[in-house]
Amino acid sequence: MIIPEKLCGIIGWPLGHTMSPLLHNWGFAQLGLPLTYMAFPTPPDRLETFLAGVRALPVWGLSVTIPHKRAVMAACDHLTERAKAVGAVNTLYWRDGKLWGENTDVAGFLAPLHAQEDLPQKAIVLGAGGAARAAVAGLQELGLTVFVSARTLEKAQALTDELGGTPLPWEERTQALDGAGLVVNATPLGMSGERQEQSPWPAETWTPSMTAYDMVYNPLETRMLREAKAAGASPIDGLSMFVGQGLEQFRLWTGQELDEKEARSLLAHALGL
Ligand code: NAP
Repeated sequence: MIIPEKLCGIIGWPLGHTMSPLLHNWGFAQLGLPLTYMAFPTPPDRLETFLAGVRALPVWGLSVTIPHKRAVMAACDHLTERAKAVGAVNTLYWRDGKLWGENTDVAGFLAPLHAQEDLPQKAIVLGAGGAARAAVAGLQELGLTVFVSARTLEKAQALTDELGGTPLPWEERTQALDGAGLVVNATPLGMSGERQEQSPWPAETWTPSMTAYDMVYNPLETRMLREAKAAGASPIDGLSMFVGQGLEQFRLWTGQELDEKEARSLLAHALGL
């Protein structure tokens, strides 16, 4: 039995169900590392105290989720260029006694796109929240022309003012691509529950020259992906991003790699697939 000597975990509020403990504890066990990963539900009024504790306890690394992704930035000694570009941190790690903030959502978002043979030239990101920020930053890195459409136009405007790209009213979102390009769903439409049968993109406007990238991963095949596939478009599901951001965190904390396919199959199994 390996007795854990150091702690990793995830902070957020409300935390709800998260697959991160499963992924990281599996990885630590695979490599025989004396680390354990826990869920730390952390209300906003306890965040400062929690982060002070991180400097006193053997905390090796943290994942950060809603609503703390911006608030933790002030507690970091350094921010990576990506974290600065996105304006949000989802990972804390130590280097030479300094606490760094990184955003691995960008690497996770880009992972399945790097695997594509031909990247489109244009993309539209649907939604203007935290996930959309990571997508826009990643697409800018790839040099694509980026549009952002959100039901609250002011939020798309504010996001593009800060990160680049062109805002589009929600009603005009299908006009951005002229039938070819990448559509990224960064809204909760399609998630299991009451929004499962919703799609942010009209079924009749998919073409075989389009790629549908859904950040929602539960269910794995959302209505958007189902309709895109039926029209001959290429689908990318949200589990690839989730695995990609998690493996990047694992790399930052341990300097070691996990097998992407094995990690994906572990999480797919946990999702009941
Ligand atoms: P968020 O910050 O709450 O942003 C959600 C965005 O969706 C907002 O722009 C919101 O608009 C919009 N929206 C909500 N309901 C809508 C509706 N009925 N119609 C149109 N737009 C709507 O959430 P987030 O953190 O960006 O996450 C968004 C999605 O990405 C979630 O499903 C999340 O699970 C997924 N995600 C996946 C990964 C991954 O690793 N695969 C990582 C992060 C997030 P308003 O501001 O007007 O409400």
